[in-house]
Amino acid sequence: MQAGVIAVQGDVAEHAGAVQAAATAHDEPAEVVEVRDSGVVPDCDVLLMPGGESTTISRLIHREGIATEIREHVASGKPVLATCAGLIVCSRDAKDDRVDPLGLVDVSVDRNAFGRQKDSFEAKLPIEGLESPFHAVFIRAPAIDAVGDGVEVLARVDGRPVAVRDGPVIATAFHPELTDDSRLHDLAFFPEREVIA
Ligand code: GLN
Repeated sequence: MQAGVIAVQGDVAEHAGAVQAAATAHDEPAEVVEVRDSGVVPDCDVLLMPGGESTTISRLIHREGIATEIREHVASGKPVLATCAGLIVCSRDAKDDRVDPLGLVDVSVDRNAFGRQKDSFEAKLPIEGLESPFHAVFIRAPAIDAVGDGVEVLARVDGRPVAVRDGPVIATAFHPELTDDSRLHDLAFFPEREVIA
């Protein structure tokens, strides 16, 4: 498996380590590549969109021609795990002129919804498809405030969706790459395998 971490900005190293660990747990040899230029995504089987600063990530992926390749990756049914700023960049509407969203996940987001109230928090989050709660780390997290018909909500905080699936894309407002728990990577990349609680 070739896993591409979109690496123009954000918590790239954490994502690279987390997907490597998930692949190892499944006995799947994985080569992790950091994507900073066009021409790399077409060779990737799975993609990770890190947290960071969505305005910067959006600007750079469009400038480098990576945005179109990410859209083509999803159009061909290949999986993506997008976290936090990655969710914002993948959304349909980020309600911020500085973000040109990819429209891969049919949701609109409120960029710093949780961040303004409290910069970071952690929660034991029940997630659809997982047998026990997930330790979810939220850092200046966005909230999802509208969800399209084809979107499956996997988890909520205070009634607001924080993890969703839209076709081959799983997007979370929190950071699964910051914990040792690879069950969200399993849901995104190894869905045919039984998920172990
Ligand atoms: N709120 C940040 C943004 O708008 C995202 C924060 C994060 O990725 N941890 O880009």
